[in-house]
Amino acid sequence: MKGQCLCQAVAIEVASNDELHACHCNHCRKWGGSAGFTVQAQGITTDNAQEIGTYQSSDWGTRNFCKICGTHLYFHQLGTDNYYLSAGLFDDVNFKLTSQIFIDKKACYYELANDTPKLTEAEFLEMVANS
Ligand SMILES: [Zn+2]
Ligand SMILES: [Zn+2]
Repeated sequence: MKGQCLCQAVAIEVASNDELHACHCNHCRKWGGSAGFTVQAQGITTDNAQEIGTYQSSDWGTRNFCKICGTHLYFHQLGTDNYYLSAGLFDDVNFKLTSQIFIDKKACYYELANDTPKLTEAEFLEMVANS
């Protein structure tokens, strides 16, 4: 499936996947203004990679964005092919919300009504370390 940023300068193609994850961590909140909704992919193909900006937000990952329009493109787990791409890049996918992570870091001003598994930061990091 293929997605693109707001100005359409950057296009990204990944294997089709309709499972979304909501992340309630403080980095997603700072970066995007609220919870982050992402789709996971092993490897991505990009057009116009020179327009992709990179910010290393932690020891283990970068956040990447379109240098022209500022669209948040993806989180990349350093040293792996693991990417979490912004759901909003993909226009025609019937996504289903399948998990919520960093639930213990969620802002107090909202609750998602979706009935999904909820992982704390510690539970999520343990899952990543074991995968
Ligand atoms: Zn753009
Ligand atoms: Zn997050």
